[in-house]
Amino acid sequence: MHKLSKQEYLTGRLMGQAFFMICAVMFSSWSVAQTASLASSNTWVDADFHDSHLHLTNYVQEGTDIKDLISMMGSKVGHSTVFGIPLQQQWLYSTTGDWAPTYYLQSDAPLYYYSFTDAHIAMAYRSLTKQQQARLDPMITGFNPTDMYAADHIRRVLETFPGVFSGIGEFTIHKEFVSAKISGETASLTNPALDRILDFAGEVGLVVIIHNDIDMPFPKPDQEPYMLQQMKALFARHPDTTIIWAHIGLGRVVRPLEEQAALVERACADPSLRHVHMDISWDEVAKYITATPETIKRVADVINRYPDRFLFGTDVVAPKSQDAMVAVYDAYAPLWDALTPEASIKVRKGNYERLFDEARRKVRAWEKANIDNN
Ligand SMILES: [Zn+2]
Repeated sequence: MHKLSKQEYLTGRLMGQAFFMICAVMFSSWSVAQTASLASSNTWVDADFHDSHLHLTNYVQEGTDIKDLISMMGSKVGHSTVFGIPLQQQWLYSTTGDWAPTYYLQSDAPLYYYSFTDAHIAMAYRSLTKQQQARLDPMITGFNPTDMYAADHIRRVLETFPGVFSGIGEFTIHKEFVSAKISGETASLTNPALDRILDFAGEVGLVVIIHNDIDMPFPKPDQEPYMLQQMKALFARHPDTTIIWAHIGLGRVVRPLEEQAALVERACADPSLRHVHMDISWDEVAKYITATPETIKRVADVINRYPDRFLFGTDVVAPKSQDAMVAVYDAYAPLWDALTPEASIKVRKGNYERLFDEARRKVRAWEKANIDNN
């Protein structure tokens, strides 16, 4: 074996060092170039909106390729949450035969909690470049909110996929046509399992997007809106948790309560609910809000008085094109016109940035402190 002479050894070392230095220079100029291209390609800083409510997959866990989502966002959508749907519509042969349902209204077969959605979302997110990841806030949804172990599932997801998630949800407690179809015990706002979930979210700094209809469909005029009291009590029990109440509690047939605007305004004014925000996502909600000049004015008045408490979202499910997202935004055109410039920018972008930037910072800090080898 040829033994290196001292001269050859030194020459080799020097060449190695030179190579290392060239690499270092190349690398640093590469990162300068990379940073410059990050800045120059951030055309989305002038985006119309951020999307606080977007489902990447549908009720049978199929959906949009996450890279296609980034292209669809283009320069219109700046940031977006990204989550699946934790409820899987079962294809029950005895019910629909060879026909495969993809939506909960298409079959009487039950829905069940599909925890793998969290791994799917996390792996999709990890397939993106850092620059693409910076635009998304993945959310954990694959837990059963009646299970006292649900909070442990959320912890396990954070441990398995550190550096990914910003929040939990959208998860559902009461939703027209859906709640009654879910296998097992019916979820409820009074279940201590839900308190464990919200406590844990508060401890970690995870944003919570919760769906709970404000009332039952087709209530009789004298019917007690018991859901409201339960919801207020639940939210008040978790003052350290950042909560977004999806769709201000509206549904496909759960119509705004007669005094809904006054009620929402009271919630905004209540210091015990300071941590509660509302999203106006879903084209069904846009229909209610923009129904008449009066409804637009009523809603705009409340938002203008409490501009920090509302977020826009599309609630699109497995979108196939940018049009799907932009259509919901455009449906709100009369509302955008009725808001003050300050309120408009906060609802479309500012509140998202405030809540999710903080969540990302807090969750990363929690992961650093609580997960080994992170
Ligand atoms: Zn949704």
